[in-house]
Amino acid sequence: ADPAPNHQKNAAQLAEQYRHSLNQYNNEYYVLDAPSVPDAEYDRLFKLLQELEAEHPNLATPDSPTLRVGGAALPAFQQVRHTVPMLSLNNGFEDADVHAFVRRAEEGLQSELGKIPAIAYVADLKFDGLAISLLYRDGLLIQAATRGDGSVGEDVTENIRTIRAIPLRLLGEHPPALLEVRGEVLMFKEDFSKLNARQRELELKEFANPRNAAAGSLRQLDAKITAQRNLRFFAYGLAQFEAGTEDSEAPVTHSALLAWYSQLGIPVCKEQTQAASADELLNFYRAIEQKREQLPYEIDGVVYKVNSFAQQQQLGFVSRAPRFAMAHKFPAQEQLTTVLDIEVQV
Ligand code: NAD
Repeated sequence: ADPAPNHQKNAAQLAEQYRHSLNQYNNEYYVLDAPSVPDAEYDRLFKLLQELEAEHPNLATPDSPTLRVGGAALPAFQQVRHTVPMLSLNNGFEDADVHAFVRRAEEGLQSELGKIPAIAYVADLKFDGLAISLLYRDGLLIQAATRGDGSVGEDVTENIRTIRAIPLRLLGEHPPALLEVRGEVLMFKEDFSKLNARQRELELKEFANPRNAAAGSLRQLDAKITAQRNLRFFAYGLAQFEAGTEDSEAPVTHSALLAWYSQLGIPVCKEQTQAASADELLNFYRAIEQKREQLPYEIDGVVYKVNSFAQQQQLGFVSRAPRFAMAHKFPAQEQLTTVLDIEVQV
């Protein structure tokens, strides 16, 4: 018979199969905090589905996992609607992906005459925790929320208040009238080992990795449990800003933002750099890959961003992720062994 419809049918079946698996993995990861496959396997399927949908646009569905962020908020928590959506990041795995990212930024920012402006980049770590939004009014922490599906997250204010690294009141005389900080809650490796040792002692289920331990510890209905878990926080973004009476302006670059956060007493990670080209970004990636094991927390890659907020705005977003940033992920061998080890123990 005609090979074309057959080919199409196979592609449709494949897409359906990928979507089914990815939806299941999303639920296990984001809602239950208990993944059943390594991240690398998830990333592999995700990429296959993306490629399939690009090849056969008629197969793309509006509810495809390739268009969605995270998982639904648990009904046990109050829901928080995000004023500014909490999105994902586009992933890259190879040097070529980094060059392509820089090329796209240049194309997106070039003038009508084809002139490419100077573009400064920043690189920071891709923390393997969970995204959190912190809302400060007149310098006081008034709300904390998880990402959820990007539009609606969970109100975890009480739990967040137990994290010593997160200031309940910002430092300085003249706080902004409104500040919404975005960042990552994570568990350090040492605390993760201690927690799992304790879980073993109590004959309770162990956590698959620090990321799931952090998520499971934060999304507790009893904040006393969260308080025992020694969670940490690193800020990496800004969602909303309104100046206070004596305040000047919000920072205009990502690197200035992080320096300002430090002054306000908001933790930022010192492993960050500025770069002017794909090669310089790749230098950072390689340097961090070298010291990854020695870092006290887990990372699954580095994140590159265009430094200027004006340029970020000009580049904008594509469906579930910004065009001005990309995550460059590390290869995944260790993750495989971690998950397999756990499976053997269960
Ligand atoms: P992501 O984790 O790849 O990237 C987006 C997130 O990165 C942001 O929301 C933010 O929380 C975080 N982040 C960390 N450091 C950052 C920094 N310096 N700057 C900006 N953001 C930073 O995307 P995602 O949509 O949260 O999750 C997708 C990934 O999660 C997959 O690639 C996969 O690895 C994993 N996952 C695994 C399973 C599984 O079953 N194993 C299931 C779903 C997702």
